[in-house]
Amino acid sequence: MVQLFHSVSSLRAQVSKSKADGEKIALVPTMGALHEGHLSLMRLAQEKADRVMVSIFVNPTQFGEGEDFEAYPRDLEVDRALLKEVGVDWLYVPTVKEMYPHGFATTVSVAEHLTNRLCGVHRPGHFAGVCTVVAKLLLQSQPDIAIFGEKDYQQLQIIRRMVEDLDVPVQIIGAAIQREEDGLAMSSRNVYLSAEERQLAPLLYRLLQRAASELSPRACHGVLSRGAEAAARTPSFDGVTLLELCQSIERELLESGFDSVDYVEAVDPNSLKPVSELNQPARLLVAAKLGNTRLIDNIALEPIS
Ligand code: AMP
Repeated sequence: MVQLFHSVSSLRAQVSKSKADGEKIALVPTMGALHEGHLSLMRLAQEKADRVMVSIFVNPTQFGEGEDFEAYPRDLEVDRALLKEVGVDWLYVPTVKEMYPHGFATTVSVAEHLTNRLCGVHRPGHFAGVCTVVAKLLLQSQPDIAIFGEKDYQQLQIIRRMVEDLDVPVQIIGAAIQREEDGLAMSSRNVYLSAEERQLAPLLYRLLQRAASELSPRACHGVLSRGAEAAARTPSFDGVTLLELCQSIERELLESGFDSVDYVEAVDPNSLKPVSELNQPARLLVAAKLGNTRLIDNIALEPIS
């Protein structure tokens, strides 16, 4: 049985009781429309804690004007059935009123060098919305650990910064990206893709894989997926700089039918500062649009030895 909580007070009472019994508690925050990517975070949480709590809240403040807040897929009953299958203990589904009661006037914002670049450039205010809701969820539920996916890599690093800066007593754990068979990163938004767009979408990961394997063969060692096999059949990036490589990925996405590319950038994995040379580990991040659907993905780049 997945126990359902709608209010902070009822959730806190349960958490306090479990903590008094010496149990370790993990939180997995989500916006619902659960897929295997989300479920992998929950399974990881089960390995690391005695109790797993999942939150489902489609947070209005992290959606910009013209974004898909209204259209965002929601199906609580399907989500609950999945949580039951995985064996999650507690489900927290706050209302918008509970989260943002009349008179709410506080925003948690992390410095612009982290939040006003990459996705932040194209989604103004997004990370302030994310940080505020994540800070609230952490304070409301007071978990020992909280798990976030590397799929939203910038978000993960910003949350790590926020938690450290605010001395929030929680351990943040990043979890690997889960992918469809053809390499497309799982996302609740993939349902927006038309059949034609869905066919094109895995190119994003194929180009990241190709870049990683060209630059740092070790990054691909042992994880050669179908996507990587396909990548191996495409021309290589041999002998180009990181910047040229990013530009060539952008060009190839546009030439192949992507409608726009927000960014392709190699960054420091912690500070998210742009890097131009691979003399240390880096992360290659990409965001591009197919029709109205914005896809993001990323991959680790190991230093060239
Ligand atoms: P969302 O419901 O999209 O806000 O995602 C909730 C959490 O699941 C975030 O920490 C995401 O990074 C994570 N997540 C979403 N998709 C994936 C995926 N394909 N693999 C791993 N984690 C994911």
